[in-house]
Amino acid sequence: MDESVRNYLDHYGVSDATRRFLAKPQKMFIDGAWVDSGNGVTFDVFEPSTGGRITSAPSGTTEDLDQAVAAARRQFDGGEWRRLKPLERERLLHRLADLIETHGNELAEIEAVDMGKSVSFARDIDIQGTVDTFRYFAGWPSKLHGRIVEPSIPGNYLAYTRKEPLGVVAAIVPWNFPLQTMAWKLAAALAAGCTVIVKPAELTSLSTLRFAELVQEAGIPDGVVNIVTGRGSVIGAAMSTHPGIDKVTFTGSTPVGKDVGRAAVGSLKHVTLELGGKSPVLVLDDADLPSAALAVANGVFFNSGQVCDAGTRVYVQRAVHDAFLDELVKVTRTLKIAPGLDRDCYIGPMVSAQQKAVVAGYIEAGRREGAELVHGGASLDGPGHFIEPTIFAHCKPEMRIVREEIFGPVLVTSPFDTLDEAVFLANDTPFGLAAAIYSNDLARVHGLIPRLHAGSVYVNAHSTIDPSMPFGGFKDSGFGKDLGPEQLDYLMETKAVWITLP
Ligand code: NAD
Repeated sequence: MDESVRNYLDHYGVSDATRRFLAKPQKMFIDGAWVDSGNGVTFDVFEPSTGGRITSAPSGTTEDLDQAVAAARRQFDGGEWRRLKPLERERLLHRLADLIETHGNELAEIEAVDMGKSVSFARDIDIQGTVDTFRYFAGWPSKLHGRIVEPSIPGNYLAYTRKEPLGVVAAIVPWNFPLQTMAWKLAAALAAGCTVIVKPAELTSLSTLRFAELVQEAGIPDGVVNIVTGRGSVIGAAMSTHPGIDKVTFTGSTPVGKDVGRAAVGSLKHVTLELGGKSPVLVLDDADLPSAALAVANGVFFNSGQVCDAGTRVYVQRAVHDAFLDELVKVTRTLKIAPGLDRDCYIGPMVSAQQKAVVAGYIEAGRREGAELVHGGASLDGPGHFIEPTIFAHCKPEMRIVREEIFGPVLVTSPFDTLDEAVFLANDTPFGLAAAIYSNDLARVHGLIPRLHAGSVYVNAHSTIDPSMPFGGFKDSGFGKDLGPEQLDYLMETKAVWITLP
């Protein structure tokens, strides 16, 4: 561990448990064993607020993946996991949720150090969301069943359907909500009776590895959950074609998701793709401007803008555009830029120097293309990867900052006149992850909702997420759903059974 990171942990009084975990070289979790990669290669893990090195983790090989798949297959094809009764599966998932809750502060610290996010948000959103997701899905195993059908064809039959788990599921996870996104995929898969191999993002493997220790402590049988760390182009790509894997569930960028989808379908795997976004926000002229400005700022600057459904394109009805912009700038000024471990941090660093450079490049493109910079715009000097929350106004639809996903704290606004124009602007994007409307006029709100091409529509709020509600995009934002009962349909097969009766 670099001295800069050690000093950082000291300064913010990080717990001894977290320090011990962060100080050790990490291993992968395959078939209940903690292992190095087959060829001994590792990669360095960095802390984004200081830029210092934390530790190293194994760079898994395709042979390591083969071992994880063999373990997951053994458990699925008649192992102890497959023979567990539904209520026993529920008990294990509840026990795991309890352990995550018990170790919540430690997991939040690890997430803040590894990813750079605010430790307070990590505790209240990421870790609480992870606990809630496991609790929600823990309730499902005993409620999954088929139906009895009365056929009309000649003859006498007992006809019924059975819901059966799909098999071995590979979960490929991004770096912005490492533990929570993993939980969305894993909790539902385990509830359905599947077994799982997780590949965390290279930048943020640590909380997932600590989580795997809790999986073991909860008593989940060896081989049911496996974690293979390493490069997406090696492990993720191999997962997408591996003959022993029945389903790939991917969350990440649209270009990589398209590659994963093509490869998975090529080997006839089931596939769920949760991809990028460029979500529109419509502020109507009757909206409560101060509260709308607060919610809009949260909706884009939360997690330093590294949020898939961030409401980054803000269209405001012309009569209130300038007044709304004033409110938005006022709120944005109050957001504290600080290291992730600072309890009052709102805007933490970008996850990496590379991501900082990408975001800074977009801000520069916005300036060059003539957008009006009304707040922020600066990259702060290193060693941390900080960028100011940035607002561009009066943007044109063809500008890159309006069209492309930036994945940083950058928001664009422009005025609209009619609701038809607002709908056109909102849908003028290849993405379709989410949309938001700010208005108290129920008739106009209900009229707009069906016209927006988006997997989630938020009204007078942004990113309200709960395990009971499905989440997933339309268009280039992917297909399939995470969360809600809907997710279980993507993790189970339906078998039709016909029994001829005398
Ligand atoms: P990314 O696509 O670069 O990586 C996502 C995961 O895919 C990582 O684990 C990575 O290692 C792996 N990967 C990389 N190359 C691969 C390959 N060739 N084959 C298989 N896997 C590969 O995305 P990211 O930069 O980690 O995350 C940011 C992106 O994720 C943004 O576009 C964001 O919008 C999106 N995202 C979407 C959601 C959602 O629910 N829709 C949620 C969070 C993030």
